[in-house]
Amino acid sequence: MITAYVGLGANLGDLRRTLEAALADLADEPGLTLEAVSGAWRSAPVGCEGPDYLNAVARVRTTLSPLAVLAALQAIELRHGRERPFVNAPRTLDLDLLLYGDESIALDRLVVPHPRLHQRAFVLRPLLELDPALSAPGLGALLAHLPAVADQALTREDAPLR
Ligand code: ADP
Ligand code: MG
Repeated sequence: MITAYVGLGANLGDLRRTLEAALADLADEPGLTLEAVSGAWRSAPVGCEGPDYLNAVARVRTTLSPLAVLAALQAIELRHGRERPFVNAPRTLDLDLLLYGDESIALDRLVVPHPRLHQRAFVLRPLLELDPALSAPGLGALLAHLPAVADQALTREDAPLR
């Protein structure tokens, strides 16, 4: 059994409903157990125009290989990600494999730890909410990266995701 962390993000449609449906799909995935979910964090999009994002991180336990987890995440994205009103439209649902145990993976279609994990407050803060002592290969203690993203506007919503 490996402990892995999955980042969830949505900025189109009913954000909360999409994230909750994706979490339910994750929980239903064979070979994967949903163990804990962070709060819901709202952020402005980085480097582009568009509606706010709602983000969260889930901790899972899994017997799946990293590529099998990625395939499962992409299947769930497809199930929820079909609203594409125009080319390059914001994504209905983005699921990223942030961490997979303490493994470093550098394949064309899978890089773990997720390469921008430590630069995004909307990933770091929910991750640290689940485990303040979390560290990652190549990054060390994740808490040490928080000051560098302190200027990124982010608010935690009161209502938890179900
Ligand atoms: P992003 O999440 O970077 O905004 P996408 O969700 O469109 O972009 O992902 C693009 C590609 O990133 C996917 O085809 C996938 O193969 C690749 N990828 C590489 N590493 C990861 C990872 N750790 N988690 C999810 N996708 C990844
Ligand atoms: Mg992605």
